[in-house]
Amino acid sequence: MTSQYLLHEEPAHAADSNAHPETHNQPPLQVEDVTIEYQGLQGVVRATHRVSFEVDTADRFVLLGPSGCGKSTLLKAVAGFLRPRGGHILLDGHPVVDAGPDRIVVFQEFDQLPSWKTVQQNVAFPLRVARSLSRREANDRAMHYLEKVGLVAFAGAYPHTLSGGMKQRVAIARALAMQPRILLMDEPFAALDALTRRKMQEELLQLWEEEHFTLLFVTHSIEEALVIGNRILLLSPHPGRVRAELSAQRFGLHSQGGTEFQAAVSRIHGLLFGNPIDIQPSQRVA
Ligand code: ADP
Ligand code: MG
Repeated sequence: MTSQYLLHEEPAHAADSNAHPETHNQPPLQVEDVTIEYQGLQGVVRATHRVSFEVDTADRFVLLGPSGCGKSTLLKAVAGFLRPRGGHILLDGHPVVDAGPDRIVVFQEFDQLPSWKTVQQNVAFPLRVARSLSRREANDRAMHYLEKVGLVAFAGAYPHTLSGGMKQRVAIARALAMQPRILLMDEPFAALDALTRRKMQEELLQLWEEEHFTLLFVTHSIEEALVIGNRILLLSPHPGRVRAELSAQRFGLHSQGGTEFQAAVSRIHGLLFGNPIDIQPSQRVA
């Protein structure tokens, strides 16, 4: 990490260190000094500036920052959809050069499911193509993950008959069924109503309790970051730079609204939008 404002706290790694003990020496995802630029009509737009972070096995690692700070850009670079201008992205020590089934993205948009496939086909199809499973194996695994998101009864339905929340559940089932090395989520609940959003956060955490997948989650909501993440990387407004990294290990849905939670929200708000000169390296954030 290069930011002088980086806040080192107590170890913020995933609760269950037994999940994948063999991989603990090297973090599965290493993002080093990554600068990403777009060539726009008006010239070059720098989206992120020398961003570094590492995601450990079974982390729920959140990228948090205001709109336009380059969160989606970073996620797309990790997914292999675009190449950094500077720096490196390593997955299990190997440079990311392309998209691959080891990194699956769940997007915010409800239209990420092919409309001509049923729910089950949506989940099973990538398993056949990218994981080379037989039709039967793919269907069985699809049903297993649809059960996990409570959608077995809708296996034969087409996406347009589902609510937004149900579509996102299908997208999550489809992603988890691929058993990626890292699951990437770009504001997956941002377009949902508040109640559904909360329910989906709860379900995602429940799924994590069951599967201990490694998650890189993007949000602009401080509350959502504290609820979902065990570690949070704060990014400054455009172009995104690392402001701080902090532990959110002790917060969850249960802590929302509590005094300690609200204090953490205010502190993070100050860190995101305040004057970085006010930030002392030794400050505790959350
Ligand atoms: P966030 O997800 O944090 O809201 P983005 O990663 O979408 O931010 O965008 C970061 C910056 O890069 C913004 O200033 C945005 O306008 C710019 N940007 C994003 N995509 C493109 C693109 N395809 N062409 C040019 N500029 C882009
Ligand atoms: Mg975005």
